[in-house]
Amino acid sequence: MESFGIYVHIPFCRRKCFYCDFPSYAGAESWMSRYREALCREIAAQGSRCLGTARTVYIGGGTPTALAADDLLAVICALCESFRLTGEEEFTVEANPGTVDAKLLERLREAGVNRLSFGVQSFSDALLSAIGRIHTAREAEDAVRMAQKAGFRVSLDLMYGLPGQALADLKDSVARAAALGIGHISIYGLAVEDGTPFACMEEAGRLHLPTDDECGDMYDYITAELPHLGYRRYEISNYAKAGEESRHNLAYWQDVPYIGLGAAAHSYWHGRRMENEKGLCRYIACIEAGLSAAREEAPCSRENHIEEFAFLALRTADGIDKKRFRGTFASDVHEVYGEVIALLQAAGLVEETAVSIRLTEQGMKFGNRVFEAFLLERDET
Ligand code: SF4
Repeated sequence: MESFGIYVHIPFCRRKCFYCDFPSYAGAESWMSRYREALCREIAAQGSRCLGTARTVYIGGGTPTALAADDLLAVICALCESFRLTGEEEFTVEANPGTVDAKLLERLREAGVNRLSFGVQSFSDALLSAIGRIHTAREAEDAVRMAQKAGFRVSLDLMYGLPGQALADLKDSVARAAALGIGHISIYGLAVEDGTPFACMEEAGRLHLPTDDECGDMYDYITAELPHLGYRRYEISNYAKAGEESRHNLAYWQDVPYIGLGAAAHSYWHGRRMENEKGLCRYIACIEAGLSAAREEAPCSRENHIEEFAFLALRTADGIDKKRFRGTFASDVHEVYGEVIALLQAAGLVEETAVSIRLTEQGMKFGNRVFEAFLLERDET
């Protein structure tokens, strides 16, 4: 029986951060209990069809901890009742430091959650306010300490390239994250996405971002300092102490199947990619009408599958496992990508070991150039 991951999407936030284009709603509290009911119904229906064992569970969003504690616990309870869980799985809940207290953490721990991923983004109060976060740096530190005390493995998200951010701010945030003794740090550069308040501000000339050179200095600092502090870079944006890697995310990058539950959640199952109804009301209406909320995305051709396999594996420090590639596609990776690999090797962007093709440090920095080269040519006729 196959093993798989479970992703559950909670599309609510207390307030939208100014950079965020994730599918989440602020001010939609009146929908929460109907959403919880629909989600639990979908969980029960999907669980009855899955015979394998879930190795990882990840409740993300949005902000799962924006739900009332009873609603969030009901979702966890539905997962435990409907899927085969052994108690050994990595069970993560994303949390906003402004939405947790000791009582909630205790209940989550008792329910089987063993890992918390906090969106912190920065330990500068001025920057937190400039990007629309609802918490302070102090609240973030308190939340992490509370989580550690309750026995969770803890991950933090940080950001760089924020408006008004200087290298000194980033250095301070990295130092304060490491000083908390957490095992995992994800760190992302700000991208201004269409439809966000930051995109409007940019258009109006009111968004003052660090220059490319300044962002480059921040990137160089992160990639040098985190390993120095004991965090291995195991994926382009993710760093972990030994054994603290996110098993759930590693499974995504290693082509492992997963089931997505909730509005806008994606699934990858028996080689098919599905996306659940994105809109909150439409998702609820589908489930309440006894219909499936899932729609199949464009069928995944062999070329699509090879490209995705390559892109996802290349994001990781281990790179493309040559044996797994052969096992999955019945072709040697050199038969498909021999020319590309040779060119990128000559440019110093990828390297080959006995077992894998992986990005060099330069390749990690210019990942998009590498991924573009791994797109396959298609016969247009
Ligand atoms: S808390 Fe997370 S999901 Fe919610 S608006 Fe902010 S960044 Fe987006």
